[in-house]
Amino acid sequence: MAAQGVKLGIRIAVAAAALLAVYFGVGAKKSAAPEDATYDIVIANGNVMDPESGLDAVRNVGISGGQIRAISSEALKGKQTIDAKGLVVAPGFIDLHEHGQEPRNYQFQARDGVTTSLELEAGTADVDSWYAAREGKSLINYGVSIGHIPVRTKVLTKISSDSGLGGKLSPADMAAQDAAAHRQATPEELVQMKEAMEQGIQEGCQTFDQALFAMYRDGIIVLDQALINADSANNLRLKIKLAGLKVDQEPVPAQAPGQDASRQEPVQAAVGFRLRKN
Ligand SMILES: [Zn+2]
Repeated sequence: MAAQGVKLGIRIAVAAAALLAVYFGVGAKKSAAPEDATYDIVIANGNVMDPESGLDAVRNVGISGGQIRAISSEALKGKQTIDAKGLVVAPGFIDLHEHGQEPRNYQFQARDGVTTSLELEAGTADVDSWYAAREGKSLINYGVSIGHIPVRTKVLTKISSDSGLGGKLSPADMAAQDAAAHRQATPEELVQMKEAMEQGIQEGCQTFDQALFAMYRDGIIVLDQALINADSANNLRLKIKLAGLKVDQEPVPAQAPGQDASRQEPVQAAVGFRLRKN
């Protein structure tokens, strides 16, 4: 896998550091280069951007033993050197909203510099199976949330599309899913959906909207705040309905409205999922 990653990096050098961040560890130690050091890999002459330190300049990056060992304006010696002249060398990008969660998608994302691909909107109907399908054979880091759309689809059709929008389905299965999307769930199906969602949360996952739902339910934010921040306002409305809460009923806010800065932060902090590194 490492060899494949390096090959991609050579072709599209903008992704080189991103890929290296995956294979050699994000947040690796960076130090001045010992003069006689020979690194396993050197990414030379790229415009290195490091948000952590604010660095934005042409530098050489030396990597050995799976870690970034040096970021230097001096030339570095490497057993292998990747020339990144005229290209950006940056930490891997994190995509929070990525439905493409198949091996082919990961290849394209790596070429865009994405090293962590997260399906946190649609999610999956079965968290453990989703991770098991990717364990040990994915090019980049990945993660998923439990999601109402695939759960509803699976309960109403018994067809699982794995990653929600990224699975391969036959035309007949797609037609069945389409039909299910336009019919009302039975009371029994609603119970199954709630159970599947709760199981997913127990397995370590929740969607942005699930986090918003919990905050609304607990009176931390009002309905308007939840819906404005929702990835899918309709899904969130449905979650609220399923919980027996009235969509037009607003709990008393825990804090005074108008504190815009405080609205966003808990939303981010409340979301949980299991990140898998490959
Ligand atoms: Zn989407």
